[in-house]
Amino acid sequence: MCAKSVGHQMQNVTILGATGTIGLQTLDVISQHPDRFNVFALAANSNVKSMLALCNTYAPEYAVMLQEAAAVELGAELKSIGSKTIVKHGEAALNDISAHEQVDIVMAAIVGAAGLHPAMAAAKAGKRILLANKETLVMAGNLFMQAVIDGGASLLPIDSEHNAIFQVMPHQRTKSLSNATLSSLGVKRVLLTASGGPFRNASLEELKTVTRAQALNHPNWVMGPKITVDSATMMNKGLEVIEAHWLFNALPNQIDVVVHPQSVIHSMVEYIDGSVLAQLGNPDMRTPIAYGLGYPDRLASGVSSLDLLTTARLDFCAPDLIRFPCLRIAYEALNMGGTAPAILNAANEVAVEAFLAEKIGFMDIPNTIEAVLAASNVEQVESIEQLVAVDAYARLAARKQINAL
Ligand code: NAD
Ligand code: MG
Repeated sequence: MCAKSVGHQMQNVTILGATGTIGLQTLDVISQHPDRFNVFALAANSNVKSMLALCNTYAPEYAVMLQEAAAVELGAELKSIGSKTIVKHGEAALNDISAHEQVDIVMAAIVGAAGLHPAMAAAKAGKRILLANKETLVMAGNLFMQAVIDGGASLLPIDSEHNAIFQVMPHQRTKSLSNATLSSLGVKRVLLTASGGPFRNASLEELKTVTRAQALNHPNWVMGPKITVDSATMMNKGLEVIEAHWLFNALPNQIDVVVHPQSVIHSMVEYIDGSVLAQLGNPDMRTPIAYGLGYPDRLASGVSSLDLLTTARLDFCAPDLIRFPCLRIAYEALNMGGTAPAILNAANEVAVEAFLAEKIGFMDIPNTIEAVLAASNVEQVESIEQLVAVDAYARLAARKQINAL
């Protein structure tokens, strides 16, 4: 039986990317705690059918579609059934529902660079941000972290690896965002685990001819198409290295990646005394989502118990940077600093899109990104406007590179 809430205020939640994999899993967890969370606003790109179903179930105050035509269609459908949900469209509306004074929690689960502005809006407005959109930190890590601090926001990482690290980090670090170095906290390094994806054992020759369908067939996690391809190239882990750098103030040489095919250990922190702390669980994003929603309380998430006897063994090996150059390129971009990670991110988004459209081969993804980075001027990051321009430039450069293939 569900305990009645005692002393918990109802919290209003905005879900950006509500129709996506993370958005739907967030709604699943929220549904298990109707006494704690109210769905205040939902946002998506263009999927009217899915948004209509969500509005029927959750009756949010606001539903935002990025695309105007989709918003018009949704509005008409909702009107015909007498719904009170207010429908809006466009980027400004995404920012509005992220910064709205009635909102307590924002789940940032839009895919790609499009998630940056609403996440910034939530940070400036001092919300509790549940950050799934790792691209925000890859593009604009220093500006976003500063906005979180200046806005008095709180930041809970939802990416399973970073959520695991957050859970086993010293309390000084997790209670408030500080500029403390890892070594001053007694931390030697963080270890990000990686499943290795569907091509963990494929040869370089085989990787050149893998298909879209093979890349979309992830062994352990159910995710949207972009991050699934990122997992297959291991760019996902590269983006996560950059994400860990900003979240935990970790230097590039304090972030190691270890391939762990079972995806049971979600990441680890090694302390200077030799202790290694890990967070384990079934690979189900409802665990980090519930952690972010409830923090510092623990909430039931619907995730089944980890059965160690069935798991039986945990394997580890080093990542292969020859077969998975994306991970190497991401470390290089992090070491270059400045706008390099934003260029990497934009070129990757364009290359993954082209691969999903079956216009380029799998190994053309790292080749495109590397060529774009090599041809780009890397600058110091000064403003969001500059990053938006860099993003646009890198997309154009990546498209040119792809057309020349
Ligand atoms: P998805 O493709 O399943 O869903 C993306 C959502 O974003 C959809 O609701 C879509 O309508 C919305 N969207 C896309 N473009 C938009 C735009 N321009 N404006 C507004 N909304 C837009 O993706 P996902 O797997 O849920 O991943 C979402 C984010 O979470 C990504 O940044 C991903 O890297 C991160 N993440 C996902 C997982 C996972 O298990 N799926 C794990 C860790 C991190
Ligand atoms: Mg992850």
